[in-house]
Amino acid sequence: MHGLERRLRRIVALLIAAATGSISSPSTCIEHNAESNTVCLSGTVCDVLTAEGIENCHIVVGEDSTRPDPSGSYEVRLPASAYVFSVRSLDKEYYTYSTLLHLREDTHLDVPMIPRSVDVRFLKSFFPNDVIIRWENLPIKVYYNRPDAPAGYIHMLEGAIGDWEFVSAMNLFEEVQTPEEADLDIEYVSHVKYAESTIDLRVDAGCFTHMTISIETYYPWYIFGQKSYAYKAFAHELGHALGLSHSTYPFQIMASPHVGKWEITAPLGTIIQVVYSLPVGTNLLCYPINEK
Ligand SMILES: [Zn+2]
Repeated sequence: MHGLERRLRRIVALLIAAATGSISSPSTCIEHNAESNTVCLSGTVCDVLTAEGIENCHIVVGEDSTRPDPSGSYEVRLPASAYVFSVRSLDKEYYTYSTLLHLREDTHLDVPMIPRSVDVRFLKSFFPNDVIIRWENLPIKVYYNRPDAPAGYIHMLEGAIGDWEFVSAMNLFEEVQTPEEADLDIEYVSHVKYAESTIDLRVDAGCFTHMTISIETYYPWYIFGQKSYAYKAFAHELGHALGLSHSTYPFQIMASPHVGKWEITAPLGTIIQVVYSLPVGTNLLCYPINEK
C-alpha cells in the first residue's frame, strides 16, 4: 500500500511538472528538408528463379506506396531518410520482401521475389546467420588430385558431383588439372580430427575464395545404404562447398544430427538454384516466414 501511494504521488508530481513546463518531452526530432533533399529509389521486382519482372505486387516505402510497371520496374522519389521498404505479392504467389532502407542518395534496389513453391523455412535452415555466403561464379573449379586418390574415390567424388548437378539441373563443378587453377582442392589424408572428412573455407567480402576438402582414406570399406561412406562424405562436403551449413531438417545429406536417409534429395536442388539466383550477401531476414 505504501508503495502504491508513493507511486501515485510521483505520477501527480510528474503531471504538475509537465503542465508547468518544467520537464520537456525527450525530443529527438530530426529536421528534414524535404524539398531540397529528395532522392530517387528505383529498381526491378523479379522472380528469383525465372528473372522475369513481376507487376502484380504492392511496394510500400514508409508512408508511400506504388506499383511496378508491366516489366516489374518501379521508381519513387522521397525525402532522404530511413524507411521500411516492403514488396508484397498481390496474388500471394511470392513471399513478402521487407527490409530497412537508409536512403541518403539515389538508390537502385532490385527485389528478388521468392516463389511460395520454395520452402523458405527449409532454405533458412542452411544459413544459421541468415546471410547467404557463396561463390560469386559457377562452376566451382575442382582439383580432384587423381594421383593421390585411393582406389574408388574418384568414382565416388564424380558420383556426388553428378548428383548435386542432377538435382539442381545446374553446372556446379568443373575439373581442372592443376591445384593452381582450383577453387576447391581435394586432399586424401590418413586422419581427420573429430570427423571422417572436413572442409576448410576461405571467405572474402561475402564470397568464397578457396576451399579444401580433406577426406580420410579408409572409407571405401564402409558401406552405407547402397552407396559407400566415401560417397556420402563427398556429397556432404560438396554441400558445404556450395554454401550450405548443417540443417536440422532430416532426410537430406546436410542433416545434423544425422537423421533419416542421408541423401542429395530433390528439394536440395531447389535450394541451390535459389542460393545462386539471389545476390551475394542476401540477408534472408528480408523474407519473414511467420507471416500468414
Ligand atoms: Zn558438415
